[in-house]
Amino acid sequence: MSVTNQPDPEERRRVVAQDLENVMHPIVQHRALEKSQMVVTGAQGSTIVDADGSTYLDAMAGLWCVNIGYGRTELAQIAAEQMEQMAYYPHTAMNLPAARLGEQINTLMGGGYHTYFVNSGSEANEAGFKVARQYAKHEFPGQFRFKTIARHYAYHGTTLATLAAGGMGERKMKFEPFAGEFIHVPAPTCYRCPLGLEYPSCKTACATAIEAAIQAEGPQTVAEVIVEPIMSGVGVAVPPDDYLPKVEAICRKFDVLLHVDEVINGFGRTGKMFGHQHYGISPDIMAVAKGIVSAYLPIAATVVKNRVFDSFLGEVAEARQVMQVNTYGGHPAAAAVAVRNIEIMLEEKLPERAATMGAYLMDGLKATLFKHGICGDVRGKGLLIGIELVTDRESKVQLDGALVGGVVEFCKANGVIVGRSGGGSRHSNTIVLSPPLIITRTECDTLIEVLDKALAHTVAKMA
Ligand code: PLP
Repeated sequence: MSVTNQPDPEERRRVVAQDLENVMHPIVQHRALEKSQMVVTGAQGSTIVDADGSTYLDAMAGLWCVNIGYGRTELAQIAAEQMEQMAYYPHTAMNLPAARLGEQINTLMGGGYHTYFVNSGSEANEAGFKVARQYAKHEFPGQFRFKTIARHYAYHGTTLATLAAGGMGERKMKFEPFAGEFIHVPAPTCYRCPLGLEYPSCKTACATAIEAAIQAEGPQTVAEVIVEPIMSGVGVAVPPDDYLPKVEAICRKFDVLLHVDEVINGFGRTGKMFGHQHYGISPDIMAVAKGIVSAYLPIAATVVKNRVFDSFLGEVAEARQVMQVNTYGGHPAAAAVAVRNIEIMLEEKLPERAATMGAYLMDGLKATLFKHGICGDVRGKGLLIGIELVTDRESKVQLDGALVGGVVEFCKANGVIVGRSGGGSRHSNTIVLSPPLIITRTECDTLIEVLDKALAHTVAKMA
């Protein structure tokens, strides 16, 4: 793949120096960046290009987000046209692309929803918490429903409230303490059941724990339960089929809202348009980001069931409107690009493609990687896949963190970008894959081949 305007070595050195001198990067250690000197200059399909000319198969689609793949130039034209026509006006008025995008999302949900636009997945969940609380203020006067039940090891975003709702110790510890309104319960991480049980004899006790938490806190204090249908960041935890229906039934029993985080699961990633559609549940609040626009521009949304939305209607004097505003929400250029992104997904049947290509990749990974004793589990849905690494399959002891990091580095040195789970020591031993939904069979074969070599290399290092 060739890149126009590729910097020459002198220009590359200048950019690296300029960046290191002036820019603060998220989550990555600056020393590591100083060493890798990675400057991404081009991207096409599932491939990214470094300023030094190296190409990589991006099996993470950036940060689990470039669902339609890189290099769709028509999206650049759509953004430019919209900016020329009407670059911006606050979403306190209507605009054409955001109205169309709201309609698209409502149609994808089968009707009955309104969409509130924000800029990131964190904001989408944060707005969800606020919608749940404000709804409770309107609908349960005299009660004080402000708590959210969430799961251990979850990730829901990077703001203080979304971090507090999350359950990843290593992401939270530098910012603690948090206010106590987020109550955590065990997650359906079945390969390492936190309750020491096994499905199905466990009778999804982790779902029952949600009911126990609501009872213990007092139902009159609980506004919502938040779940990511298939937990991504913790190493791709696919719940048993009856888990989410059971969670939904508990929410209904106590009149607690069901808030579904589809920031990664949404827009085709798991082989259906939304992850929750595998389980037949109906969210009251749904956060979407990433795949909504395949990261071509920043836009995200909090999608609200009409039963909840209706609570925000009334006479002006009643002041029931959504009590928040964000400058860029419903940004016309981002919305226009998201509309076309979704059309492309539907035209090219990308959710269906994620299902078939995901099955192909999963079968190949299982057939190849289980020959290495350190491959403990291969799991996922669609093109959201986790490969859990252990010292041996019998003991399930987690592979040492440095060795897991070595697998990621080996893959990169061999032209493939893979990810690694977070969640702290109990769950950070999983290699995660979330490639663009347009990934080809040949690219899947490359991915399997490089992971095979990486695991063989790791086993040799351990000997
Ligand atoms: N929710 C989930 C499940 C995520 O994985 C993420 C980010 O990776 C977020 C929310 C936060 O999204 P953002 O980084 O756009 O704020």
